[in-house]
Amino acid sequence: MTARKSLARENKDLKEALRLARSLIEALAEGTDVIIAAQDTEFRYTFFNAAYKKEIKRLTGKDATVGMRMPDLFADMPEQRKVALDEWNEAMGGKTTGKTIEFGHPARHRRVYKVHHSPVRDEEGRIIGAVEIAYDITKRTNADAQTRLLQDAVARERDRLSALLASITDEIWFADKDDRFTLVNPSGAQEFALDMHDAVDVRKLAESLEVFRPDGSRRPVEEAPPLRALRGELVRHEEEIVRSPVTGELRHRQVSSSPVKNVDGAIIGSVSVVRDVTELKLAEERIRNLASFPEYNTNPVMETDLCGNITYANPAAKKVIEDAGLAEGDINVFLPKDTERVLKRLAEKDGSVFQHETVIGERIFATAIAVVPQLRVGRIYARDITRRKRAEQALGASRNLLQGIIDNSPRYIYVSDLEGRYMVVNRAVAEVFGFQPEKMIGKTRRETMAEEMADRYEAHDREVIKTGRSLDFEEYGVFNGRPRTFLTTKFPLFNADGIICAVAGMSVDISNRKETEESLRRDKESFERLVQKRTSELIRARSELERAKRLSDIGALAATVAHELRNPLAAIGMAGYNIQRKAQSRGLDKHIAIIHKKIRESDQIIDNLLFYSRIRPPQYESVDIQGLIGESIDAIGERGRKQVTVRRRSYPPESVSIEADPTQIREVLGNLLNNAHDAVESGSGVIEIMCEQKDDLVEITVRDNGVGIDGEVLPMVFDPFFTTKAEGTGLGLTVCRQIIGLHGGSIRAESEVGKGTTIIMTLPRERKGC
Ligand code: ADP
Ligand code: MG
Repeated sequence: MTARKSLARENKDLKEALRLARSLIEALAEGTDVIIAAQDTEFRYTFFNAAYKKEIKRLTGKDATVGMRMPDLFADMPEQRKVALDEWNEAMGGKTTGKTIEFGHPARHRRVYKVHHSPVRDEEGRIIGAVEIAYDITKRTNADAQTRLLQDAVARERDRLSALLASITDEIWFADKDDRFTLVNPSGAQEFALDMHDAVDVRKLAESLEVFRPDGSRRPVEEAPPLRALRGELVRHEEEIVRSPVTGELRHRQVSSSPVKNVDGAIIGSVSVVRDVTELKLAEERIRNLASFPEYNTNPVMETDLCGNITYANPAAKKVIEDAGLAEGDINVFLPKDTERVLKRLAEKDGSVFQHETVIGERIFATAIAVVPQLRVGRIYARDITRRKRAEQALGASRNLLQGIIDNSPRYIYVSDLEGRYMVVNRAVAEVFGFQPEKMIGKTRRETMAEEMADRYEAHDREVIKTGRSLDFEEYGVFNGRPRTFLTTKFPLFNADGIICAVAGMSVDISNRKETEESLRRDKESFERLVQKRTSELIRARSELERAKRLSDIGALAATVAHELRNPLAAIGMAGYNIQRKAQSRGLDKHIAIIHKKIRESDQIIDNLLFYSRIRPPQYESVDIQGLIGESIDAIGERGRKQVTVRRRSYPPESVSIEADPTQIREVLGNLLNNAHDAVESGSGVIEIMCEQKDDLVEITVRDNGVGIDGEVLPMVFDPFFTTKAEGTGLGLTVCRQIIGLHGGSIRAESEVGKGTTIIMTLPRERKGC
């Protein structure tokens, strides 16, 4: 058990002892006019009886409650407050005081009290409070004062006395030196039904009455205070019990008698003041009865001799034994095993109390044993604490239940006090720290983790304390070498006074969640990249599709155009031929040749259109590529308008045959040579065709020294319908690329504006695939 726990336990025990003591005092203190109150060192009432409460109400007009501070009651009576505080303070300082104090506000309730204060100590002798016992002695004090007045008056003026005497409630008796009562006030006369016309013999009157001493024994006549005063004795507050000759009741009286002397000092008489204290006595008696005759006490009360034999048991004690189904002789179950030793020890140490707990049947009793050394008896006061015990057990059980619940929570639950010491931790927390849960209690953060981490967490605690609200934090830390991230809710705990006394925290480990988030983020990024790639592919595919669709539209158009144009062109060709034949005119020949040339050009355009729109698979044959090149050069020559130098080279020089569609390759070479021819200047124009065998490829290069192609335009030259020429279709290079592509080869253009253009294409020598 930690020191903290045992301190709490001790504190609890102390409280319990106090409670027990209080219940004993309660039993004794109620039903009396004696004013009784107890306070702790902070002047907080820990106990007071009904008489005290009543008196406080009269004095202050306020209702006192247990737990209230005394100075608060007298807050608006500064004088009284000071007096009361001084008195209590003395007792708290260890003094036992007994004083007569006039106390209270004159306009409200001012009385004379006999007041006793004494300190209350714990077992170690430390003062833990004080108790006050007071009697209202206003009446008595008044009487004393009056007596003094009376004595003066007697000496000076007897006559004035009788008027005064009549107004006094206490009995006043005057006796002369002949032992006769010569004067008695109305109070006294009434009490004894005397007709005081003549003097009454003191002895005779005394003999006619039943008078007892306080111990109950008969009082001899000579002991009567007036007679003793006549013999010179000063009798002060002596008690007598007299059976009233009027009502037959036993009255308790307090008698003070003084001799009356003349100027020479000779005794000439005595004066006695008698006060009826029956009510007070009865009250005291009741208290005593409660203590010594606890017949009516509902708690078991027993008395033992000093050897531990029970000599008395009240009905409540007997009933407990009976209810438990035990025999009468079993009554000593209330006693501890070593009663005799306990009693001996108690007898040595005056005023100490031994406490223990006993289980009798189904009930549990707290028992206090005290010894009254004068009477050589032990007194046992028991009190049923079954309910409290059961409640305590239930509390213990519910505390265990709570610990069980928080221990089994997957969350990290902990409570720390304002100094950052752990008050509660659940198993999950202890495991993270690698401690036993109970070893963590009472430890500070700094004792359990790295300083820098502790600082961070404590800063969070302070924020909670400052705002007084529940707050959420993401807390990071390294525990047992493992980095962890927690999502933490912290909230303040309040004590009964509403003041923050601790901070509770509940954390969830989100480290894995963090990792997952991280990998999710990575996945997301790569997914996005993938989507991007797919999207651009999709866009490309779509534009391809659009292009294909456009091409198929063009195809349909081209087919129509070709069909519509070929017939008229054929008819024109035929007509030209007929004209030439019939006219036989040399002058017409030139024009006829132009017609035929234009017809061929138109046919070429139609061919391109058709080629483009109906690209068919190549019809492979073994083709002499050198031969094809030669044919194409010859075809160029036929165009003939420009002076162009055409050169051809080949490696190896001998013929190279490849597998290809000769018509398609002828188409390609024709297109390339046409473009080169278009690009060069007449005269200076040079077209160079090179054919090179490279392993299983042939590379054919067509180079010209023409205008060249602008860098911005170069990427577009293979696009369908891209043309910079007034009469161009923009299909030549497109068709070339498609044919070469169908043969499994490649084609590209290199160019420099003003210097010329080179088209490089490759063809596999052998057919690939199907
Ligand atoms: P067209 O010849 O009907 O214009 P092509 O597809 O054959 O269509 O050529 C497209 C365009 O490429 C031409 O209009 C021209 O601008 C450019 N081009 C092609 N070959 C050459 C070349 N040898 N020199 C300069 N420009 C050329
Ligand atoms: Mg062209």
